[in-house]
Amino acid sequence: MIGAIIFSLISLDNCRPRKPEAVPPARVEVKYLGFHALVEGKKAAEELIKEIPRLAARGVNLLFVEVDYNFEYRSHPELRGPEPVTVAQAKSLVRLCREYRIRLIPEFQSFGHQSWEKKTFSLLTVYPQFDETPGKYPGNQGIYCRSWCPLHPELPPIINDLYDELLETFEADGLHVGMDEVFIIADPDCPRCHGKDPAELFAHAVQTAYDHIVRKRGKEMFMWGDRLLDGKATGYGEWEASMNGTHPAIDLIPRDIVICDWHYEIMPGGVYPSIPLFIEKGFRVLPTSFRNKKAAEALIDYSLQFSTDRMLGHLCTTWQPPEAGKTYKHPPLVLASRRLRGSG
Ligand SMILES: [Zn+2]
Repeated sequence: MIGAIIFSLISLDNCRPRKPEAVPPARVEVKYLGFHALVEGKKAAEELIKEIPRLAARGVNLLFVEVDYNFEYRSHPELRGPEPVTVAQAKSLVRLCREYRIRLIPEFQSFGHQSWEKKTFSLLTVYPQFDETPGKYPGNQGIYCRSWCPLHPELPPIINDLYDELLETFEADGLHVGMDEVFIIADPDCPRCHGKDPAELFAHAVQTAYDHIVRKRGKEMFMWGDRLLDGKATGYGEWEASMNGTHPAIDLIPRDIVICDWHYEIMPGGVYPSIPLFIEKGFRVLPTSFRNKKAAEALIDYSLQFSTDRMLGHLCTTWQPPEAGKTYKHPPLVLASRRLRGSG
């Protein structure tokens, strides 16, 4: 999603959205005011722990803690990032979230986002054979982020160990698996994926995670929604939606996955066609905003017109490490709190 900020290449020309017909009530009761925290290490976790009471006072009742490889994994210590979040910190988060009645969901970025700029994350440095494009793009030049190979047979047992450890340590009843902005998929040089349909490959990756998290472990699964949307038909373009052939996967994956539908720009007419689309397809949707307050306002106002139990509320992100005494003042969060909770 950071890429959306850097490149901001949304094409508005193809947007032919419909306004919803329902007249909005003054305030719709929604299930969640969510907050997504990027916690890339011990320091960020410390700051987040201090901020929990203030986030709760804002009305936050769902917290995604994205740790990715930056956790003190015991099952695969070789995959720990530097200065990882400790088990003790995770337990502090569990205790505080319980005290303040916040649902705590760990997040692990799956499939895409296996590198950032020149840095390749631990999975693909420790196990380069899982790279969709091993040996290609030295220094990550010319690409956005690396992907893992969704068809490598030795990969799921390792990732499932990490998922399990997060679920257990965070005592969570759900897991967010990321899966946004997958641009490297069905690479022509991958011996397993070349020539395959990107939508089927993407759906396979989603199903692999689902089979473990939902079917085996009985937990709820959350994911970002961009790869399930047709970038051209929706007018969202290639970041907030897909222009690389993955979007038909929307009809191939289980409907009980919660879709975090992120949109950071103002759409023409304030219309976000993905919200009714996900709802009509049978998914529950959690519209997600970033730092543009006007865009957040447009997204919140539009989504609140859908008084259905499939429209879960709103999720705020900051895409920077939490800062005690500051994060709770994130302007779109203050705004969302006023709109959803009548407070803030
Ligand atoms: Zn592959």
